[in-house]
Amino acid sequence: MKIECIKTHHLRCHLEKPFGFSQWSYAQRNVLVIEIITDTGISGWGECYGPADVTQSAVSNFYAPRIIGSDALATNVIWQHMWRSSLDFARGGIMMGAMSGIDMALWDLKGKVLGLSVSELMGGRYRDVVPCYATGMYFQDLPENELLPLLVKEAKGYANEGFAAMKIKVGKNPNFDEKLIIAMREALPSTQLMADSNHAYDLPEAIKIGRVLDKQNYVWFEEPLSPEHGNLFKQLHEKLDLTIATGECEQTRFGFMKLIESGGVSLLQPDLAYCGGPSEALKIRTLASANGINCIPHVWGTMLNFAAATHFLASAYHEPGRAEPKSLFLEYDRTENPLRDELYDIAIEVQNGSARVPTTPGLGVKIDIQAMKQFDINNTETR
Ligand code: MG
Repeated sequence: MKIECIKTHHLRCHLEKPFGFSQWSYAQRNVLVIEIITDTGISGWGECYGPADVTQSAVSNFYAPRIIGSDALATNVIWQHMWRSSLDFARGGIMMGAMSGIDMALWDLKGKVLGLSVSELMGGRYRDVVPCYATGMYFQDLPENELLPLLVKEAKGYANEGFAAMKIKVGKNPNFDEKLIIAMREALPSTQLMADSNHAYDLPEAIKIGRVLDKQNYVWFEEPLSPEHGNLFKQLHEKLDLTIATGECEQTRFGFMKLIESGGVSLLQPDLAYCGGPSEALKIRTLASANGINCIPHVWGTMLNFAAATHFLASAYHEPGRAEPKSLFLEYDRTENPLRDELYDIAIEVQNGSARVPTTPGLGVKIDIQAMKQFDINNTETR
Protein backbone atom coordinates (compact mmCIF):
# COMPACT_ATOMS: atom_id res chain seq x y z
CA MET A 1 0.00 0.00 0.00
CA LYS A 2 1.67 3.19 -1.20
CA ILE A 3 1.19 6.86 -0.37
CA GLU A 4 -0.42 8.37 -3.46
CA CYS A 5 -1.46 11.86 -2.43
CA ILE A 6 -0.92 14.32 0.45
CA LYS A 7 -3.39 17.15 1.01
CA THR A 8 -2.96 20.03 3.45
CA HIS A 9 -5.53 22.52 4.74
CA HIS A 10 -4.70 25.75 6.53
CA LEU A 11 -7.75 26.33 8.73
CA ARG A 12 -8.48 29.64 10.41
CA CYS A 13 -11.25 31.07 12.56
CA HIS A 14 -11.69 34.39 14.33
CA LEU A 15 -12.50 34.36 18.01
CA GLU A 16 -15.36 36.23 19.63
CA LYS A 17 -13.23 36.88 22.70
CA PRO A 18 -9.44 37.26 22.33
CA PHE A 19 -7.41 35.63 25.12
CA GLY A 20 -3.84 35.97 26.30
CA PHE A 21 -1.07 34.32 28.28
CA SER A 22 2.33 35.50 29.50
CA GLN A 23 3.86 35.75 26.01
CA TRP A 24 1.12 36.63 23.56
CA SER A 25 -2.60 37.03 22.92
CA TYR A 26 -4.80 35.44 20.29
CA ALA A 27 -7.69 36.88 18.31
CA GLN A 28 -7.81 33.97 15.87
CA ARG A 29 -6.97 30.27 15.75
CA ASN A 30 -4.96 28.66 12.97
CA VAL A 31 -4.07 25.04 12.38
CA LEU A 32 -2.66 22.90 9.60
CA VAL A 33 -4.38 19.56 9.03
CA ILE A 34 -2.98 16.91 6.72
CA GLU A 35 -4.67 14.08 4.86
CA ILE A 36 -2.51 11.25 3.51
CA ILE A 37 -4.25 9.12 0.88
CA THR A 38 -3.07 5.71 -0.30
CA ASP A 39 -3.40 3.99 -3.67
CA THR A 40 -6.22 1.89 -2.13
CA GLY A 41 -8.20 5.02 -1.29
CA ILE A 42 -7.82 4.70 2.53
CA SER A 43 -6.65 7.92 4.14
CA GLY A 44 -5.31 9.13 7.50
CA TRP A 45 -5.43 12.55 9.14
CA GLY A 46 -3.01 14.47 11.32
CA GLU A 47 -2.39 18.02 12.52
CA CYS A 48 0.65 20.19 13.12
CA TYR A 49 1.33 22.56 16.02
CA GLY A 50 3.05 25.75 14.88
CA PRO A 51 2.52 28.55 12.34
CA ALA A 52 0.13 26.90 9.89
CA ASP A 53 1.11 28.90 6.79
CA VAL A 54 4.83 28.16 7.21
CA THR A 55 4.28 24.53 8.21
CA GLN A 56 2.05 24.08 5.16
CA SER A 57 4.96 24.89 2.87
CA ALA A 58 7.25 22.50 4.78
CA VAL A 59 4.73 19.67 4.27
CA SER A 60 3.60 20.34 0.73
CA ASN A 61 6.85 21.59 -0.82
CA PHE A 62 9.46 19.67 1.12
CA TYR A 63 8.36 16.43 2.81
CA ALA A 64 5.37 15.39 0.66
CA PRO A 65 7.35 14.98 -2.59
CA ARG A 66 9.95 12.94 -0.70
CA ILE A 67 7.49 10.37 0.70
CA ILE A 68 4.97 9.97 -2.12
CA GLY A 69 5.21 6.32 -3.26
CA SER A 70 6.47 5.09 0.17
CA ASP A 71 4.98 2.07 1.95
CA ALA A 72 2.19 3.79 3.90
CA LEU A 73 2.45 1.46 6.91
CA ALA A 74 6.21 1.90 7.41
CA THR A 75 5.93 4.69 9.99
CA ASN A 76 9.46 4.42 11.37
CA VAL A 77 11.03 4.10 7.92
CA ILE A 78 9.19 7.20 6.69
CA TRP A 79 10.09 9.15 9.85
CA GLN A 80 13.77 8.33 9.48
CA HIS A 81 13.69 9.17 5.77
CA MET A 82 12.15 12.61 6.49
CA TRP A 83 14.58 13.21 9.38
CA ARG A 84 17.63 12.41 7.28
CA SER A 85 16.39 14.50 4.34
CA SER A 86 16.35 17.68 6.48
CA LEU A 87 18.80 16.89 9.29
CA ASP A 88 21.50 19.27 8.12
CA PHE A 89 19.28 22.33 8.48
CA ALA A 90 16.21 21.25 10.49
CA ARG A 91 16.95 19.20 13.58
CA GLY A 92 13.87 20.75 15.12
CA GLY A 93 11.50 23.70 14.89
CA ILE A 94 8.81 24.15 12.29
CA MET A 95 10.12 21.37 10.06
CA MET A 96 9.71 18.92 12.96
CA GLY A 97 6.17 20.27 13.46
CA ALA A 98 5.52 19.38 9.80
CA MET A 99 6.96 15.88 10.28
CA SER A 100 4.78 15.46 13.40
CA GLY A 101 1.51 16.02 11.51
CA ILE A 102 2.59 13.64 8.75
CA ASP A 103 3.51 11.00 11.32
CA MET A 104 0.16 11.46 13.13
CA ALA A 105 -1.72 10.98 9.84
CA LEU A 106 0.27 7.80 9.18
CA TRP A 107 -0.73 6.37 12.61
CA ASP A 108 -4.39 7.16 11.89
CA LEU A 109 -3.99 5.51 8.49
CA LYS A 110 -2.24 2.42 9.86
CA GLY A 111 -5.01 1.90 12.43
CA LYS A 112 -7.67 2.16 9.74
CA VAL A 113 -5.85 -0.33 7.49
CA LEU A 114 -5.25 -2.87 10.30
CA GLY A 115 -8.64 -2.34 12.00
CA LEU A 116 -7.01 -1.24 15.28
CA SER A 117 -7.28 1.91 17.36
CA VAL A 118 -4.11 3.95 17.85
CA SER A 119 -3.94 2.91 21.54
CA GLU A 120 -4.01 -0.73 20.44
CA LEU A 121 -1.21 0.03 17.98
CA MET A 122 0.69 1.65 20.87
CA GLY A 123 0.61 -1.61 22.82
CA GLY A 124 -2.88 -1.69 24.31
CA ARG A 125 -5.08 0.28 26.68
CA TYR A 126 -4.60 0.35 30.45
CA ARG A 127 -7.82 2.33 30.74
CA ASP A 128 -10.97 2.98 28.66
CA VAL A 129 -11.55 6.42 30.15
CA VAL A 130 -8.84 9.04 30.70
CA PRO A 131 -9.36 11.75 33.35
CA CYS A 132 -8.85 15.25 31.95
CA TYR A 133 -7.72 18.51 33.42
CA ALA A 134 -9.32 21.70 32.13
CA THR A 135 -6.88 24.23 30.72
CA GLY A 136 -8.23 27.75 30.81
CA MET A 137 -8.15 30.88 32.95
CA TYR A 138 -6.32 32.82 30.24
CA PHE A 139 -5.79 36.55 30.69
CA GLN A 140 -8.14 39.15 29.25
CA ASP A 141 -7.60 42.82 28.66
CA LEU A 142 -9.27 43.94 31.89
CA PRO A 143 -8.19 45.67 35.10
CA GLU A 144 -6.75 43.16 37.55
CA ASN A 145 -9.53 43.64 40.12
CA GLU A 146 -12.06 42.60 37.44
CA LEU A 147 -9.96 39.87 35.89
CA LEU A 148 -9.24 37.91 39.07
CA PRO A 149 -12.88 37.17 40.06
CA LEU A 150 -13.69 36.38 36.44
CA LEU A 151 -10.93 33.73 36.33
CA VAL A 152 -12.09 32.22 39.62
CA LYS A 153 -15.65 32.09 38.26
CA GLU A 154 -14.42 30.34 35.12
CA ALA A 155 -12.59 27.73 37.22
CA LYS A 156 -15.66 27.08 39.37
CA GLY A 157 -17.59 26.46 36.15
CA TYR A 158 -15.19 23.67 35.18
CA ALA A 159 -15.49 22.16 38.65
CA ASN A 160 -19.28 22.17 38.24
CA GLU A 161 -18.87 20.38 34.89
CA GLY A 162 -17.07 17.58 36.73
CA PHE A 163 -13.39 18.40 36.25
CA ALA A 164 -11.39 17.24 39.28
CA ALA A 165 -8.25 18.97 37.98
CA MET A 166 -7.47 22.19 36.14
CA LYS A 167 -4.60 24.43 35.11
CA ILE A 168 -4.39 28.18 35.47
CA LYS A 169 -2.15 30.65 33.66
CA VAL A 170 0.37 32.66 35.65
CA GLY A 171 3.10 34.95 34.36
CA LYS A 172 1.13 38.20 34.09
CA ASN A 173 3.17 39.76 36.89
CA PRO A 174 4.34 38.13 40.14
CA ASN A 175 2.02 40.16 42.41
CA PHE A 176 -1.10 39.32 40.45
CA ASP A 177 0.05 35.72 40.02
CA GLU A 178 0.39 35.24 43.77
CA LYS A 179 -3.08 36.65 44.43
CA LEU A 180 -4.57 34.44 41.70
CA ILE A 181 -2.88 31.26 42.99
CA ILE A 182 -4.27 31.84 46.48
CA ALA A 183 -7.75 32.89 45.31
CA MET A 184 -8.05 29.73 43.17
CA ARG A 185 -7.09 27.50 46.08
CA GLU A 186 -9.56 29.22 48.40
CA ALA A 187 -12.34 28.82 45.82
CA LEU A 188 -11.49 25.19 45.00
CA PRO A 189 -10.05 23.57 48.13
CA SER A 190 -10.24 19.96 46.89
CA THR A 191 -9.47 20.41 43.17
CA GLN A 192 -6.11 19.34 41.80
CA LEU A 193 -4.61 22.62 40.56
CA MET A 194 -1.64 23.24 38.27
CA ALA A 195 -0.06 26.53 37.18
CA ASP A 196 1.61 27.35 33.86
CA SER A 197 3.81 30.43 33.38
CA ASN A 198 4.85 29.72 29.76
CA HIS A 199 8.45 30.58 30.73
CA ALA A 200 7.65 33.99 32.21
CA TYR A 201 10.04 34.09 35.18
CA ASP A 202 13.70 34.45 36.00
CA LEU A 203 15.05 32.11 38.67
CA PRO A 204 14.37 34.27 41.78
CA GLU A 205 10.80 34.96 40.63
CA ALA A 206 10.22 31.29 39.84
CA ILE A 207 11.45 30.33 43.33
CA LYS A 208 9.13 32.90 44.92
CA ILE A 209 6.05 31.84 42.93
CA GLY A 210 6.99 28.16 43.33
CA ARG A 211 6.96 28.56 47.12
CA VAL A 212 3.44 30.03 46.93
CA LEU A 213 2.36 27.06 44.80
CA ASP A 214 3.95 24.66 47.30
CA LYS A 215 2.11 26.28 50.18
CA GLN A 216 -1.19 26.17 48.27
CA ASN A 217 -0.67 22.50 47.44
CA TYR A 218 -0.58 22.78 43.64
CA VAL A 219 0.25 19.61 41.68
CA TRP A 220 2.76 20.99 39.20
CA PHE A 221 4.53 24.18 38.09
CA GLU A 222 4.66 24.24 34.29
CA GLU A 223 7.33 26.02 32.24
CA PRO A 224 8.51 28.15 35.16
CA LEU A 225 11.68 29.07 33.24
CA SER A 226 12.80 29.55 29.65
CA PRO A 227 13.51 26.35 27.72
CA GLU A 228 16.80 28.01 26.77
CA HIS A 229 18.09 27.76 30.34
CA GLY A 230 17.91 24.07 31.14
CA ASN A 231 20.59 24.45 33.83
CA LEU A 232 18.28 26.66 35.95
CA PHE A 233 15.60 23.98 36.34
CA LYS A 234 17.81 21.95 38.68
CA GLN A 235 18.43 25.00 40.88
CA LEU A 236 14.68 25.69 41.05
CA HIS A 237 13.86 22.06 41.80
CA GLU A 238 16.25 22.07 44.76
CA LYS A 239 14.22 24.89 46.37
CA LEU A 240 10.71 23.43 45.85
CA ASP A 241 8.65 20.37 46.71
CA LEU A 242 6.18 20.36 43.83
CA THR A 243 6.63 18.73 40.43
CA ILE A 244 8.28 20.83 37.74
CA ALA A 245 6.78 20.13 34.31
CA THR A 246 8.01 21.23 30.90
CA GLY A 247 8.59 20.09 27.33
CA GLU A 248 5.95 21.63 25.05
CA CYS A 249 8.71 23.63 23.29
CA GLU A 250 11.00 20.60 23.08
CA GLN A 251 11.26 18.07 20.27
CA THR A 252 12.66 14.62 19.49
CA ARG A 253 14.23 12.00 21.76
CA PHE A 254 17.50 13.92 21.42
CA GLY A 255 16.03 17.16 22.75
CA PHE A 256 14.26 15.39 25.60
CA MET A 257 17.41 13.46 26.49
CA LYS A 258 19.22 16.78 27.02
CA LEU A 259 16.28 18.09 29.05
CA ILE A 260 16.33 15.02 31.32
CA GLU A 261 20.12 15.16 31.66
CA SER A 262 20.07 18.80 32.75
CA GLY A 263 17.94 17.69 35.75
CA GLY A 264 15.18 19.30 37.79
CA VAL A 265 12.25 18.30 35.55
CA SER A 266 9.92 15.60 36.89
CA LEU A 267 7.16 15.61 34.27
CA LEU A 268 7.69 15.72 30.48
CA GLN A 269 5.10 17.31 28.19
CA PRO A 270 5.82 16.49 24.55
CA ASP A 271 3.18 17.69 22.08
CA LEU A 272 2.31 14.90 19.63
CA ALA A 273 1.68 17.48 16.89
CA TYR A 274 5.12 19.04 17.37
CA CYS A 275 7.63 16.76 19.17
CA GLY A 276 8.05 14.50 16.13
CA GLY A 277 4.61 12.85 16.10
CA PRO A 278 3.29 9.76 17.90
CA SER A 279 6.30 7.71 16.71
CA GLU A 280 8.74 10.06 18.40
CA ALA A 281 6.52 10.58 21.47
CA LEU A 282 6.70 6.83 22.18
CA LYS A 283 10.51 7.00 22.05
CA ILE A 284 10.44 10.02 24.39
CA ARG A 285 8.19 8.05 26.75
CA THR A 286 10.64 5.16 26.80
CA LEU A 287 13.44 7.58 27.59
CA ALA A 288 11.33 9.12 30.36
CA SER A 289 10.52 5.69 31.80
CA ALA A 290 14.20 4.76 31.84
CA ASN A 291 14.73 7.85 34.01
CA GLY A 292 11.71 7.30 36.28
CA ILE A 293 9.73 10.23 34.85
CA ASN A 294 6.16 10.33 33.48
CA CYS A 295 4.97 11.92 30.23
CA ILE A 296 1.69 13.83 29.90
CA PRO A 297 1.34 15.37 26.43
CA HIS A 298 0.82 19.07 25.88
CA VAL A 299 -2.39 19.37 23.85
CA TRP A 300 -3.46 22.34 21.76
CA GLY A 301 -5.32 22.65 18.47
CA THR A 302 -8.11 20.40 17.26
CA MET A 303 -9.55 16.97 17.96
CA LEU A 304 -6.86 15.11 16.00
CA ASN A 305 -4.14 16.08 18.46
CA PHE A 306 -6.53 15.59 21.39
CA ALA A 307 -7.36 12.09 20.10
CA ALA A 308 -3.67 11.25 19.64
CA ALA A 309 -2.97 12.34 23.23
CA THR A 310 -5.99 10.37 24.51
CA HIS A 311 -4.62 7.17 22.94
CA PHE A 312 -1.13 8.00 24.21
CA LEU A 313 -2.35 8.33 27.81
CA ALA A 314 -4.69 5.32 27.54
CA SER A 315 -1.60 3.27 26.71
CA ALA A 316 0.63 4.90 29.39
CA TYR A 317 1.95 2.95 32.35
CA HIS A 318 2.25 5.24 35.34
CA GLU A 319 5.73 5.19 36.88
CA PRO A 320 6.08 3.74 39.46
CA GLY A 321 3.35 1.11 39.56
CA ARG A 322 1.38 0.73 42.80
CA ALA A 323 -2.07 -0.36 44.00
CA GLU A 324 -3.54 3.11 43.54
CA PRO A 325 -1.36 5.13 41.18
CA LYS A 326 -1.67 8.85 40.60
CA SER A 327 -3.81 9.86 37.62
CA LEU A 328 -2.16 10.89 34.37
CA PHE A 329 -4.48 13.77 33.54
CA LEU A 330 -5.11 14.58 29.88
CA GLU A 331 -4.89 18.26 28.91
CA TYR A 332 -8.26 19.54 27.66
CA ASP A 333 -8.13 23.15 26.50
CA ARG A 334 -11.47 24.80 27.28
CA THR A 335 -10.92 28.19 25.61
CA GLU A 336 -13.01 29.16 22.60
CA ASN A 337 -12.04 27.05 19.59
CA PRO A 338 -14.45 26.44 16.70
CA LEU A 339 -11.70 24.36 15.02
CA ARG A 340 -12.07 21.85 17.85
CA ASP A 341 -15.82 22.12 18.44
CA GLU A 342 -17.38 22.73 15.00
CA LEU A 343 -15.12 20.75 12.68
CA TYR A 344 -15.81 17.13 13.55
CA ASP A 345 -18.54 14.60 12.70
CA ILE A 346 -17.05 12.26 15.27
CA ALA A 347 -15.17 13.78 18.21
CA ILE A 348 -13.74 12.50 21.48
CA GLU A 349 -16.49 12.33 24.09
CA VAL A 350 -15.66 14.16 27.32
CA GLN A 351 -18.15 13.69 30.13
CA ASN A 352 -17.81 14.54 33.79
CA GLY A 353 -14.21 15.59 33.20
CA SER A 354 -13.11 12.33 31.56
CA ALA A 355 -12.43 11.40 27.93
CA ARG A 356 -13.65 8.10 26.51
CA VAL A 357 -10.91 6.42 24.50
CA PRO A 358 -12.14 5.64 20.98
CA THR A 359 -12.13 1.95 20.10
CA THR A 360 -12.74 2.46 16.39
CA PRO A 361 -9.79 2.06 13.96
CA GLY A 362 -7.19 4.84 13.83
CA LEU A 363 -7.47 7.99 15.93
CA GLY A 364 -11.25 7.55 16.11
CA VAL A 365 -12.27 11.08 15.16
CA LYS A 366 -13.62 12.26 11.81
CA ILE A 367 -13.49 15.68 10.17
CA ASP A 368 -16.71 16.94 8.58
CA ILE A 369 -15.44 17.87 5.11
CA GLN A 370 -18.37 20.20 4.50
CA ALA A 371 -17.83 22.04 7.79
CA MET A 372 -14.11 22.32 7.07
CA LYS A 373 -14.72 24.41 3.94
CA GLN A 374 -15.79 27.49 5.92
CA PHE A 375 -12.43 27.51 7.75
CA ASP A 376 -10.14 26.49 4.85
CA ILE A 377 -8.14 29.53 3.73
CA ASN A 378 -5.48 27.70 1.71
CA ASN A 379 -5.09 24.10 0.64
CA THR A 380 -2.53 22.09 -1.32
CA GLU A 381 -2.41 18.70 -3.01
CA THR A 382 0.79 16.81 -3.81
CA ARG A 383 0.78 13.63 -5.91
MG1 MG B 1 1.88 24.98 28.83
